Amino acid sequence: MITIAEWRERLESERCYDLISELFDRIERSKLNAFITLNKEEALRLAEEYDKGKLKGKLAGIPVAVKDCISTRGLRTTCGSKMLHNYIPPFDAHVVERLRQEGAIIIGKTNMDEFAMGTTTETSYFGVVRNPYDLERVAGGSSGGSGACLGGDESVLALGSDTGGSIRCPASFCGVVGLKPTYGLVSRYGLIPYANSLEQIGPMACCVEDCAKLLEVIAGKDPRDSTNAGVEFRFNPVDRKFKVGIIGEMGGNDDVMGKFEEVVNEIIKPNFEVVEVSMPSFKYALPAYYIIAMSEASSNLARYDGVRYGYALDKLDTWTKYFSKVRAEGFGEEVKRRIMLGTYALSAGYYGKYYLKALKVRTLVKRDFERALKDCDVLIAPTMPALPFKIGELADPLTMYKMDVNTVPINLAGVPALSIPIGFVKGLPVGMQIIGRYFEENTILSFALKIEREVKHEI
Ligand code: GLN
Repeated sequence: MITIAEWRERLESERCYDLISELFDRIERSKLNAFITLNKEEALRLAEEYDKGKLKGKLAGIPVAVKDCISTRGLRTTCGSKMLHNYIPPFDAHVVERLRQEGAIIIGKTNMDEFAMGTTTETSYFGVVRNPYDLERVAGGSSGGSGACLGGDESVLALGSDTGGSIRCPASFCGVVGLKPTYGLVSRYGLIPYANSLEQIGPMACCVEDCAKLLEVIAGKDPRDSTNAGVEFRFNPVDRKFKVGIIGEMGGNDDVMGKFEEVVNEIIKPNFEVVEVSMPSFKYALPAYYIIAMSEASSNLARYDGVRYGYALDKLDTWTKYFSKVRAEGFGEEVKRRIMLGTYALSAGYYGKYYLKALKVRTLVKRDFERALKDCDVLIAPTMPALPFKIGELADPLTMYKMDVNTVPINLAGVPALSIPIGFVKGLPVGMQIIGRYFEENTILSFALKIEREVKHEI
């Protein structure tokens, strides 16, 4: 894995152009399938500019990979779907504008579950992403390409998006750091939506400090996103005695719990005040999340009709036939399932029974977090309940949904959470989630920095 500090050190003696070319050679030979589209020409041109001293900014000359649901002007943005396989956005997302302003080199668009719906990147129209530690296993999802390219030395930084765990899951499975920011900290302008009320774009990196640096660049005011809080972020590590709450309701299998408990006993308990916290609403969080996410998805995806949005067919027909054909051909199975379930949950007769009830659960989850975080500075839990799965292992949708049990409550509440590697079991990485108060990313990252220093990273 390559940190910003290591990349900069190499830049002192080597040309940026050569380093970026080397990176593309590596990507082109790679078996991970982390990228859908490469931005080779522009990246090499920017590298040349860097070498001439013309590219300036906080991330000058640093390669960044961007998840393929984030709009990039002139660069294909597919959302992992056949529906958008040839879509070239005419504008940049807010976060991409910020990257460009700071001199970052966008090397390509990363593979993802179709419309970010999934936990393994197996629903991508462009094929599964493989885990850098075991090619027979998944890299997690839905930002699987962003996780894999970092774990596999194919980028220094990456952007992901997280609706119910999509940054934290691949970070955990690929042994890297990933942060889901507080809802409203990072503008969603230019993010192709899956479930607007739940999702945030967030930074992924090979160490805590780099993750914080990338957040500094992408966070902040943007009037084009009405939910943007207008808050800037600066990393200013604090050194104090954190009070840590362990969430009793978030667990995992023996592999994961063995490692998590080892870290709690050997690193966390000796250094911090630790208490157990209980979140009674969490047993309803998973179904509530899926009802809300699918409802929002069904409404968001209505725009892909082959006329206003989405790919067009050569042969015209009556409106309903044309519309149905475009959607039948353009969407994959999981996306169709969610559109149907979401439409059902929102329909007149069932709205109160499902959608409204889910919103009530959401309020309870929020209250549980607020209560626990009044007493504790941070809360911890395993990010994922299991090690990276074998490709094809999670055969039915419900089994897949259940794997999000530890990540979705965070999105329901809108609080920030970071996944950090805590070591390896059976040669595969394990991640721990650190959750904090609204807009207290600084506390989370400061605490994570301390954990990172203590963790044993040998495989
Ligand atoms: N796995 C979850 C889902 O499928 C989360 C996805 C995400 O965060 N985009 O909805």
